Amino acid sequence: MRCTRCHRPLIVPAATVTTRHGASTYGPVCAERMGLSGINRAALPAGLRRPRAQQTTTDDPAQMALALEQAA
Ligand SMILES: [Zn+2]
Repeated sequence: MRCTRCHRPLIVPAATVTTRHGASTYGPVCAERMGLSGINRAALPAGLRRPRAQQTTTDDPAQMALALEQAA
């Protein structure tokens, strides 16, 4: 089985589209670039994975706390 777009060999296709000529299989990179929904995002290379949003609000002891006031 090969990717229809880039012809790379596939073990498990990330996306399969049924066309008039049969099933077209796509690898994870091509499926992501083509915007096919329902792809297995865990199979994507790290460069194409969107990082999970992280909350990094730690207090820096070297900085003083500012009293934020509303301007009147
Ligand atoms: Zn491909």
